[in-house]
Amino acid sequence: MNKPVNVTVWNEFRHEKKNAAVKKIYPDGMHAVIAQSLSAHANLRVRTATLEEPEHGLTEQVLAATDVLTWWGHVAHGEVSDTVVARVQKRVLEGMGLIVLHSGHFSKIFRRLMGTNCSLRWREAAEKERLWNIEPGHPITEGIGEYIELPNTEMYGERFDIPTPDKLIFISWFEGGEVFRSGCCWERGHGRVFYFRPGHETYPIFYNPQVQKVLANAVRWAAPRVNIKDNCSNVKPIEKLAPKTEDFGKAGVIQSK
Ligand code: ZN
Repeated sequence: MNKPVNVTVWNEFRHEKKNAAVKKIYPDGMHAVIAQSLSAHANLRVRTATLEEPEHGLTEQVLAATDVLTWWGHVAHGEVSDTVVARVQKRVLEGMGLIVLHSGHFSKIFRRLMGTNCSLRWREAAEKERLWNIEPGHPITEGIGEYIELPNTEMYGERFDIPTPDKLIFISWFEGGEVFRSGCCWERGHGRVFYFRPGHETYPIFYNPQVQKVLANAVRWAAPRVNIKDNCSNVKPIEKLAPKTEDFGKAGVIQSK
């Protein structure tokens, strides 16, 4: 039996409260649907957190107890506190996994971890998307088959302004002709980061069984292997150093006599 993985599903939870069409699809919020699908897996322990909670539900204690954090945001990226963003980044560098969904491409945390604009081209026309599984041997694509087909999606097109992924596992084709790097893996510090494109709020994409499978696989893949606090320490040599006849001073430069 695999070690349990503690997952925190984070959602901005704004569209579902303000837009009747979105509320109809996700009455309790997208996070509730994502959390429920992950909870079906015996070794995943799932909690949720949303923007309006104190510290956005991402206190030091919650993050310390989180192995993998999933992130959905769109209209309120600017309302996420920089303190919380720095806290999440620190945890990723220590080893926590982060899964960024759809419009989370413009979240503060994703842009900070990538170091680029993370911009893209987009269009909302309910068009068809086919996500090609180009790495069938990767743990995240296990059981997915050749592709995932979504009948109605928002289009995201290249160029997606991200650093070249360590591993690219899905490429999307859209009815309108664009392509997009839809499943991207990176490492930042000791943590793993996965960006997954599907998930526009006006389509029931998080109910799709293949999308749910990718999320569960991604959580397992992103689970920490280590948890290492940053420490830039001054250390004693392991071996005995040969005596130095010159005076190198503090900066390592030979001092004139
Ligand atoms: Zn969208």
